[in-house]
Amino acid sequence: MTEIKNLNFGELERWVRQQGWKKFRAGQIAKWIYTKKAGSYDEMTDLSKDIRNFLKENTVLNVLQLITYEQSKEDGSIKFLWRLKDGHTIETVFIPERNHYTLCVSTQVGCAVGCDFCFTTKDGLIRNLSTAEIIDQYIQSQRFVGLEKRISNVVFMGMGEPLANYENVKKAVQIMTDDRMLGLSHRKITISSSGIIHQIKRMYQDSSFPQVRLAVSLNAADQKTREKLMPISETNTLENLMKTLNSLPVKTGYRIMLEYVLIKNVNDRPEDAHRLAKLIGKNKKRYKVNLIPFNPYPGSPYERPEEERVNRFHKILWQYNIGAFVRWSKGKDISAACGQLRKKEITEKVSFITPAGLKK
Ligand code: SF4
Repeated sequence: MTEIKNLNFGELERWVRQQGWKKFRAGQIAKWIYTKKAGSYDEMTDLSKDIRNFLKENTVLNVLQLITYEQSKEDGSIKFLWRLKDGHTIETVFIPERNHYTLCVSTQVGCAVGCDFCFTTKDGLIRNLSTAEIIDQYIQSQRFVGLEKRISNVVFMGMGEPLANYENVKKAVQIMTDDRMLGLSHRKITISSSGIIHQIKRMYQDSSFPQVRLAVSLNAADQKTREKLMPISETNTLENLMKTLNSLPVKTGYRIMLEYVLIKNVNDRPEDAHRLAKLIGKNKKRYKVNLIPFNPYPGSPYERPEEERVNRFHKILWQYNIGAFVRWSKGKDISAACGQLRKKEITEKVSFITPAGLKK
């Protein structure tokens, strides 16, 4: 069975031709799936009954099943928990912002990177998500919240390291940015990596990887602290990472985002802020710094800094003229840490629910 959302436009056209159909059928099918977000082949009324039946019998349209969701009363963000065909579960977060909607998607079941502050990685990596499983997070979330709330921004910041699932993520980005498919703006897609140097270089050298924004989890401005927080730093050292980032061909409007999770008494002291500013040095125009106060989860060894500590750190960066902003986590009243709702489902066996009753 072909999972139809695994195919980018060129592959969809080839597949359509293999069935002996005219090429334009690819455009028709893509329009139903990606523009109209059809949930079944029966909705595709401008396709003949024979074609619809063939599609039903030979392809899979939907690859995610909604298990449950939590909606924040504070800010309206929604965390979805989906079941995959093999029974594993993943999360996606829908985030209403001031004037647009953002979706945070997962790229792996679990994660192998092992960041010390991260809930997702506790059970290690289970498997990569397929392109269809990444794309369906967008389509099913959009169907759930209603097409009038168009999700314009996508951040690959959910469960998993996107660049460790390189090919499937690349194809998902191709589908997202193709005007014949989801048609999102390149600038509104952000891939967030823990800093796997060879994969970052590969992405920038790969002409078939659509240009999107890059975010890198820095989390410390010195090797020792970074290594403690992110063991991946032992092989992808801070020095080499910064050297690589400083040499990437970054176009105007595509500044690299340095993500910095602020953890109380670990990396949030004034000297840490000064060190970060020095690390960025003269490359200020190349970066933006995203400060994210740590989101504690049950049993986490770290604490969230108080607002004044966050503001102090922020102010120091501004004094160096470094573009920095604080991202207060959305949905603090729901299972906010990435992977937490999934864990809850595993331990509490949340039952399957339907979207009825969702507060929009
Ligand atoms: S923070 Fe991201 S890269 Fe690090 S372990 Fe968690 S999911 Fe993996």
